[in-house]
Amino acid sequence: MAIVLITGGSRGIGAACVRKFAARGDTVAFFYRVNTDAAEKLAAGTGATAMRVDITDPAAVEKAVSEWENRTGGIEILVNNAGISQTGLFTDLTEDDWKKMIDTNLSGTFRVTRAVAREMVRNHKGSIVNIGSMWGKTGASCEAAYSAAKAGLRGLTMALAKELGPSGIRVNCVEPGVIDTDMNQNLDRESRERLCDATPLCRIGLPGEVADAVCFLASDAASFITGQCLGVDGGFAI
Ligand code: NDP
Repeated sequence: MAIVLITGGSRGIGAACVRKFAARGDTVAFFYRVNTDAAEKLAAGTGATAMRVDITDPAAVEKAVSEWENRTGGIEILVNNAGISQTGLFTDLTEDDWKKMIDTNLSGTFRVTRAVAREMVRNHKGSIVNIGSMWGKTGASCEAAYSAAKAGLRGLTMALAKELGPSGIRVNCVEPGVIDTDMNQNLDRESRERLCDATPLCRIGLPGEVADAVCFLASDAASFITGQCLGVDGGFAI
């Protein structure tokens, strides 16, 4: 049984991770940004603790992490899942669009990890799983900022694996393909079919399939694995 913190746990892949870790008997807290109804329902159904914390707010992150550490004695597993997406022509990207994407998808992970890693280093124990994307590996047309932020997570994962490994902390990344969550709800039928056709397993993935990989990398079953980026994409990015 482990003490777990998951960011962006109210919906989609994060919610599947909350369910998976809670079902193992772990003590789970999750951050969310605005969706209090979904967060409270999930907390009631799983016994997890919902915390309304925007990962773009450094002070809120520090406060919430130390609150959860004080309640539990220290976080053992961190899943950096919270993220946003935006599509559009690169030439239409505004300064604000770019900043918002990097601030959430890359800097948000930096901030939460920095706050959590201090205590992990003191405890000489921890496992961190970042949720990247196959687009961070291959790049996606019309998702330049998203692809850049997710590629940044690959670098962060490998650098932290090297720096924190001697302190007993493993750092890995899961890179999903197209997964059936709210993030993809505006895909029309034709786009979904095209994405399925480009996937060797001929379908889009389920949030629970990503959570299975996260749970594996976070657990002792992966005790000699660090600095790795694991694709959970039905073979899309081969
Ligand atoms: P969803 O849009 O379904 O859920 C996003 C979650 O992140 C919600 O819980 C949301 O909270 C939370 N969130 C967003 N911004 C913030 C913030 N600033 N602070 C705190 N929480 C925040 O996304 P998915 O489940 O689809 O995606 C989860 C992760 O997986 C993301 O990092 C995404 O980039 C990645 N991914 C997803 C893929 C997909 O096809 N779905 C493919 C590849 C990667 P709230 O409910 O309050 O809004």
